Amino acid sequence: MAQLLDGKAVAKVLKEEIREEITQWKNKGLQPKLAVILVGDDPASVVYAHSKQKACEGIGMAFELFVMSADSLETEVLERIEGLNQDTEVHGIMIELPLPKGIRKEKIMAAVRPDKDVDGVHPLNRGYILSGQDGLFPATPQSCMELLLRCGVEIAGKHVVIVGRGETVGKPLVFLILKHNATVTICHSQTPDLGAFTSQADILIVAVGRAKLIKKDMVKAGAIVVDAGINEIPGGICGDVDFDTVQEVAALISPVPGGVGSLTTALVLRNVLKGIALQGRTY
Ligand code: NAP
Repeated sequence: MAQLLDGKAVAKVLKEEIREEITQWKNKGLQPKLAVILVGDDPASVVYAHSKQKACEGIGMAFELFVMSADSLETEVLERIEGLNQDTEVHGIMIELPLPKGIRKEKIMAAVRPDKDVDGVHPLNRGYILSGQDGLFPATPQSCMELLLRCGVEIAGKHVVIVGRGETVGKPLVFLILKHNATVTICHSQTPDLGAFTSQADILIVAVGRAKLIKKDMVKAGAIVVDAGINEIPGGICGDVDFDTVQEVAALISPVPGGVGSLTTALVLRNVLKGIALQGRTY
């Protein structure tokens, strides 16, 4: 039976580190602050924005939510972003997705100052992750890495198979894993015979968005399995891995909920602190 990659336990340690760093900044006279822009009233986005607010309040980070109506013009959203780009009291900016029709996501993402782009979506940050330079990177691929590294998993020399090449999780993760000297295979919806690839993985990371896609017979005995998927099912959520059966063969496995998703908000807040460093603030 597999042991758990316990996201909640890792998140607790991470939050303490963040709290400590915030205290250090406050002692130097700087109050770290995250600004979130919410355009429209998409129910999931409202929940995500408020959960970030709660996390900030719980950890000593300042937070401000800017709610804009669904019929806002793109130029109005861009003006709001520019105001926050220039506001020296704001260190991280996040725009909740999806955006209403008529507002171009790419245009909005490219408008945020790269060193305040705590979602890691600015083209410059996407380039930095690819070239191995330092920048602000998306939270979920970082969550996968933190879960592995903080649970003592050796990545170097391993065969890591990633299922999913999405812009938010799978694709950026390739470069974070490569930096740790693993051999990486990436699979997607056009991969024929998915199981032939996943069953070769020493470390299998799944970020697809299909409930219980990965079955026991697709996983090598003793593999380490990280499940980034979030799928709504009656009565709750489940991952992309059929947890109940895969745990019978894996050595380590992350649950959903309680795995990758438990770390993501903390990692957005850590990005705010990294942004302060990148902004060259010296207080
Ligand atoms: P995405 O952009 O839609 O990408 C999904 C990927 O899965 C695509 O590359 C797609 O292939 C691939 N795929 C779809 N069906 C497949 C199949 N049957 N076999 C193999 N590959 C398949 O999604 P995402 O934004 O990366 O998110 C992926 C998952 O992570 C979702 O469940 C999402 O909810 C979750 N997520 C979790 C967190 C968190 O905090 N834990 C945060 C963000 C996202 P193609 O490229 O060929 O279409």
